[in-house]
Amino acid sequence: MDPAVIDLRSDTVTRPTPAMRAAMLDAPVGDDVYGEDPTVVELERRVAAALGHQAGLFCATGSLANVIGVRLLVEPGQEVLCDVSAHIARAEMGAHAALHGLTMRTFGSERGLLDVDQVSKIIAPDAGPYLVSTAAVAVENTHNFGGGTVQPFDQLAAVGRLCRESGVGYHLDGARLWNASVASGVSIGDYGRLFDTVSVCFSKGLGAPVGSVLVGSADNIARARVLRKRLGAGWRQAGMLAAAALHAFDHHVGRLSDDHAAARLFAEAVAAGVPGAVDLDTVQTNIVVVNTGAQPAAEVAQTVATRGVWMSAVGPRLLRAVTHLDVTAEQCADAGAIVADVLAPSLARS
Ligand SMILES: *Cc1c(COP(=O)(O)O)cnc(C)c1O
Repeated sequence: MDPAVIDLRSDTVTRPTPAMRAAMLDAPVGDDVYGEDPTVVELERRVAAALGHQAGLFCATGSLANVIGVRLLVEPGQEVLCDVSAHIARAEMGAHAALHGLTMRTFGSERGLLDVDQVSKIIAPDAGPYLVSTAAVAVENTHNFGGGTVQPFDQLAAVGRLCRESGVGYHLDGARLWNASVASGVSIGDYGRLFDTVSVCFSKGLGAPVGSVLVGSADNIARARVLRKRLGAGWRQAGMLAAAALHAFDHHVGRLSDDHAAARLFAEAVAAGVPGAVDLDTVQTNIVVVNTGAQPAAEVAQTVATRGVWMSAVGPRLLRAVTHLDVTAEQCADAGAIVADVLAPSLARS
């Protein structure tokens, strides 16, 4: 990548740091399908413990961890409930249906934020012989397409109680759970213990090249190991990748507050030029959603790219910027000013 480019398309674009690469080179490894990779075993053990669960499974992607995690709770022909803009519904290529025969039903939300009343309206455990039965509820924290929003803990807990009372499972897509934890001060263990299964990603804000961990009970993770192999996703000397994740776990969590501060600088720079384009109150973590007004988001993305700022169009009039460890606060402020500059005339016309 041209070093002049400020790449805010996603926090997945980071390259491993020199220290992370050194940790990868030095990692002891073995055959993980035989359960013999010591670095993978250590990662799974430590992540499970931090999330308050018995066991973990290292997976290549967050989508894979979600596909397996949800399947542990839902049988083919049953449904999982999630919100309309959930990653599992929008961004996993229909894997839950295509591979595991699950159906999904979605509830509405404001910026992805969970509301127990929305869930209780549609949950249908033991729906009998005519209707599909709900077997699990899945939530996302932080919420990606909601704009990096942090779920209110009382709502997460309330939906957890509803799931237990209804006898249905509860899955957390925690691709950015550390961002939520750093922003809210709630530990990942306090979040994790509310759920039956949790997926977390090391390849987002934590800056590892590859890798997610799914956690749950020892029994469920033993089943997960079978499901992963069935999907062709058992791997061998994966310890070099697990070493990157361990390095991220030990060194890149505290610095997420820098990403959150950089996102705020970006948002403030956009709002300074075009007040209506960003709602500053909704910027909680490392994601900023920009309303492009009269101009299609894809066109704005192209125009700002010619000026060295890369962003993703996530809706017809919505652009997303994500901060991460490969961009500085100063670059983010500059990028915000460029976005404002491009948007100002278009909003004036709208
Ligand atoms: C990125 C992401 C995932 C996993 O994505 P992969 O590209 O499959 O690793 C899952 N959930 C959310 C909310 C995400 O943002």
